Amino acid sequence: MPFIPTYCRACGIHALMSQASIHGGEAVCSGCHAAAQILPGESYGESDVALFAELAVKLRGITPSYAARLGVELEGRSSAQAGRGLRQLVKLLPSLAILEFSVADQRTAMRKVEGMLATLLSSIASRGHSGIMAAIDVTPAEKDVKAR
Ligand SMILES: [Zn+2]
Repeated sequence: MPFIPTYCRACGIHALMSQASIHGGEAVCSGCHAAAQILPGESYGESDVALFAELAVKLRGITPSYAARLGVELEGRSSAQAGRGLRQLVKLLPSLAILEFSVADQRTAMRKVEGMLATLLSSIASRGHSGIMAAIDVTPAEKDVKAR
């Protein structure tokens, strides 16, 4: 049974949900029963649910623009050496260091963690576009005060 990454806007929680709980392209949040968004990305197994939740907790609180910045480090990860993207991320987000240690030298596990992080980061980053606009410093148009 594949498990799919989802995001509940109401709870602000990322979770892996079993495909059985997804109907007609919509997942139901196990916390609040609202419709949860299905995130693009890979699917996982039941044993990955805890790891995904742990990663989501580690990324909680980062801003959409920082998530976008971190996501850049994972671009091209499938062609790069496994773990390279993860090492770059650890430099920027030291709370991930313990994780890097636990998957070190396990290529498949590193790939999996990188894939999960890429999914989470792009989800967080995408909220920057639809959500709060950056405050724009509106400079009043220069009137031709001097001329005259
Ligand atoms: Zn919810």
